[in-house]
Amino acid sequence: MEDLKSRVAYLQGLSAGMDLEKESKEGRLLSSIIDVLGDFASSFNELQEAQEQLEDYLESIDEDLYSLEDEIYDDRPGMDDDDYMEVECPRCGEIVCFDRDIVDDEDVIEVTCPNCDEVVFVNDDTYASADEPELLEGRAEAEHEDDL
Ligand SMILES: [Zn+2]
Repeated sequence: MEDLKSRVAYLQGLSAGMDLEKESKEGRLLSSIIDVLGDFASSFNELQEAQEQLEDYLESIDEDLYSLEDEIYDDRPGMDDDDYMEVECPRCGEIVCFDRDIVDDEDVIEVTCPNCDEVVFVNDDTYASADEPELLEGRAEAEHEDDL
């Protein structure tokens, strides 16, 4: 924060131009105050530089952690094809993908086609789908091979 330092320098210039007697009480008080302000400005400057370095460092750690998580947690929810089911919409033929967890969810969840809003799957035993959802095993394996 060069601005703070230059403002303190400006105050020093002002006080120098005021013809205050250096040894008067007022003169000593004023120069002491300006000295303290100068110290504050320097400390603030150093703190700010340290803070910026810390932020850069933290950012690089965050990026490293993110790529590490990507490699380690292959089965993060919503990040892996193994966790997805797909079903063909009986009305418009759109392939609708949804989270595999929905199948086992205790609440009744309806999956609707994003294309025509037709209900394509309900995680209810009484619901009979024309096209049973299938795991995307073929696609998942193919992508794993690409990773190698
Ligand atoms: Zn549809």
